[in-house]
Amino acid sequence: MTHALIWFRNDLRLADNPALQAALRGGLVPVPVYIHAPEEEGDWAPGAASDAWRHRSLHALAADLQARGSRLQVFRGPSIDTLQTIQACTGAQAVFWNRRYEPAIEARDTLIKRNLQQHGVQAQSHNGALLFEPWQIETKNGDPYRVFTPFWRNASTRWRLPTCTDAPAHLPAPPLLPGALGIDALKLSPRLRWDSGFWSCWTPGERGAHAALARFSAQALDGYQQQRDRPDIPGTSHLSPHLHFGEITPWRIARTLENNPACNDRDAYLRELGWREFAHHLLHHFPHTPEANFNPRFDDFPWAAPESSLLTAWQQGRTGIPIVDAGMRELWQTGWMHNRVRMIVASLLTKNLRLHWQHGARWFWDTLVDASLANNSLGWQWVAGTGADAAPYYRVFNPVLQAQKFDPQGDYIARWVPELAPLAPTLRHAPWSGLPPHGYPAPIVDLASSRQAALAALERIHS
Ligand SMILES: Cc1cc2nc3c(=O)[nH]c(=O)nc-3n(C[C@H](O)[C@H](O)[C@H](O)COP(=O)(O)OP(=O)(O)OC[C@H]3O[C@@H](n4cnc5c(N)ncnc54)[C@H](O)[C@@H]3O)c2cc1C
Repeated sequence: MTHALIWFRNDLRLADNPALQAALRGGLVPVPVYIHAPEEEGDWAPGAASDAWRHRSLHALAADLQARGSRLQVFRGPSIDTLQTIQACTGAQAVFWNRRYEPAIEARDTLIKRNLQQHGVQAQSHNGALLFEPWQIETKNGDPYRVFTPFWRNASTRWRLPTCTDAPAHLPAPPLLPGALGIDALKLSPRLRWDSGFWSCWTPGERGAHAALARFSAQALDGYQQQRDRPDIPGTSHLSPHLHFGEITPWRIARTLENNPACNDRDAYLRELGWREFAHHLLHHFPHTPEANFNPRFDDFPWAAPESSLLTAWQQGRTGIPIVDAGMRELWQTGWMHNRVRMIVASLLTKNLRLHWQHGARWFWDTLVDASLANNSLGWQWVAGTGADAAPYYRVFNPVLQAQKFDPQGDYIARWVPELAPLAPTLRHAPWSGLPPHGYPAPIVDLASSRQAALAALERIHS
C-alpha cells in the first residue's frame, strides 16, 4: 500500500483534519510526522509559553494516534531535508498538510511544495484553520479589506461551513522511520517549572479543546454578549490556545453553536471568530505588520525611550495600577489574559508609558499560550492606534474607570493581586485613594498627566 506523509504543524488534531482526510480518501496509509524547526519562523520563533503548550499537545496527539493503531514520529528540522528523507525512505507518493499563514512559513511552504513537486511527489496543502482563506474575501475593487465591519459583512454572505468529520476510529500502522525522536527530546517543556500553574486551567490537546467548547456552549454562550467584557466572571470560551494549535476548527465551533438551542448570542461569538479571520486576512496582505506600523504616520511618533524599570514593572504586574497588575499576573500565572484586560494593559504601555507597542507584543509573544502572529499583531496595533481599523490613539483607557465598569466588585483584582483583597471593593480599584497595603507599589505613572503627554505627542505627528 502506498504512503502519504501527514505533516502536522498547527493542526494538532484528528477530527476535521483535511490533510488526514485527503490521505484516507485516496486510499493511502497516513504517516503522521511532526518536524520541529523554530528557526524557520523568521523573527517569530514560538515563545516559551507556546512551547510549553505544544509539548503537551504533541503528547496528546501522539496518544490519540496510538489509540487508533498509528503513531506520531517526531523530527528536528530543516523541514525540507527531513520531508525529503522520510519521503525517500517510505516511498511515499504524497505529502499533505494544512496551511499556516505567517509570512515566513508561507514562503517556506511554497518552496517546499515546489521542491517536492519537482521530485515527482504530490504535495498538497489544505485549509485547516480558517472559515475563509485570507485571499478569499476582497473588496469590489479586488483589494484587501482594512476595516473589519465590511470585511465581516462580505464574509457573512459567503457563509458555507464545511461538514464536521470525527476522528477516524482506526488508522493503519505506518512504518517505523529511522531518526525519529521522542517528543521530550525537543525540550519544549521548561526545565524550571514556571508553567506549573498553567495546567489547572488548561488541558492541551484535542480532547481538552472539545471539552472547553462543550463547557462554553452549555454554560456561558447564553449571555456571552453581555459578559464577554467582564474579567471577573468566566464569560468567554477560553478556546484561543486550542484554536491556535489547531486542536479544534472554527467551523466545528460554529456548527456546535448552531445546534445549541439556547443560542441567543451565537452571532456575537461568531463576530469574535470573525476578528480572528480578519487578523489572518491582514497578516497575509500586509505581512510587514508584526513589526511595522500599519499606519505609516506613526513611523514618526515620539515613543518614549524604553526605561527598563518601567517595562519590568509592567511585565511583573507591579505598576501600582490594580487592574493592570491583575492582568499581567494572570498572564504570568496562567499563560492567558482576558481580552478586556489585554486592552487595558496595552493602553497603559503604549499611551501612559508611551512605549512602542512592539515591547508589549514581544512580551505577549513569549508569555501567552495563545500567542498568534495574526491576532497579537492586530491586537497591539489596534490598541496602540497604529493599526487597521484601530481605536484612535487619542482614546486612552482610564484603567480605574475600566476596572470600576468591568470588575465592579474588584473580584478579579482580588484574585490576582491578593495583597489588595482585604480592601473594600472601591479601594481595590484605586488603593491610593485610601491607605494602600504595605508592599503594594505606588503607581509608576500619573494617569492624568501621562494622558496629556500622550495626546501632546500625537499632536506632533498630526501637525
Ligand atoms: C493586545 C492584544 C493582544 C492579543 N493577542 C492575541 C494573541 O496572541 N492570540 C489570540 O488568539 N488572541 C489575541 N488577542 C485577542 C483576544 O484577546 C483573545 O483572542 C481572547 O482573549 C481569547 O480568549 P477567548 O478564547 O476566551 O475569547 P472568546 O471571547 O471566547 O472569543 C472566541 C475566539 O475568537 C477569537 N477572538 C476573540 N477576540 C479576538 C480579537 N480581538 N482578535 C482576534 N481574534 C479574536 C479568538 O480566537 C477567541 O478564541 C489579543 C488582544 C489584544 C487586545
